[in-house]
Amino acid sequence: VAKSDTPGSGGPPAVLEAVAATVAEVAAGAACIGIGVPGPVSPGSGRMGPASNLTGWTGVVDVAGPVEAAIGVPVAVENDTNAAAFGEHRQGAGVGSDDLLGLWVGTGVGGGLVLDGRLRRGRGLAGEVGHLVVHPGGRRCGCGGLGHLEAYAGRNGMEREARRQHDAGRETLLVDIAGDGRMKSSVFLAALERGDDLARELLEESVEALAAAVASTALLVDIDRVVLGGGFAHRFGARFAEQVGAAGGGLLGGQAPEVVPAQLGDHSGALGAALLALDQYPRQV
Ligand SMILES: [Zn+2]
Repeated sequence: VAKSDTPGSGGPPAVLEAVAATVAEVAAGAACIGIGVPGPVSPGSGRMGPASNLTGWTGVVDVAGPVEAAIGVPVAVENDTNAAAFGEHRQGAGVGSDDLLGLWVGTGVGGGLVLDGRLRRGRGLAGEVGHLVVHPGGRRCGCGGLGHLEAYAGRNGMEREARRQHDAGRETLLVDIAGDGRMKSSVFLAALERGDDLARELLEESVEALAAAVASTALLVDIDRVVLGGGFAHRFGARFAEQVGAAGGGLLGGQAPEVVPAQLGDHSGALGAALLALDQYPRQV
């Protein structure tokens, strides 16, 4: 395994140079390469963008071309949450299910949809469950929309709500512990353990919102399993998946999909991207 930090400046050229250098460390003998990227991918294009969490990545940029030129083998590019869902489907908690939703709960909420054993891409929008409306007219999402899942279940959205209520005069250990720093998963856990009411409410609302998204997805395309992962979900463990599953059962009864914790951790995206590359370039193998 090779790792490197994302360059903070220099825009897409600097990021792609770092990616190519990191891939080169482990690419010896590879017939093809899969890359999972944190932004929208037009399916099959090898291009990604705009990506709000990468500094300076404001447009659509060719990712595959520069890496192919540097390494010399074909490169497949996929959205990272799509790739992670596919990785779990093939080799993780999704093995045995051909119709599943990967649901990634961290600073935001991402998703990936596998239907009939294939990654559903559509025009690149499929599986973007973080921006499903779970409360029409509700809290403002990081994207500007109202009532999206990510505003209720993403760590950033939960922090915004905690600070809003604190500014309005509500006491909470969340702000006492976090201070001016980021309200990490560990802060939520510590506040919960000490019986903080607001932390408990925000967690309950997160579970309800995730369950609503799971139920809506199940009713639309009939998934039988949800693989729940991401930094925040991982921190709360199997109990979090059980709570979302139980809340989904409350909405759908016996038709609700089972909700299970992801198994591949940080590797699901890289593994899924590699498996998708093998599907895209079978004659290279
Ligand atoms: Zn949104």
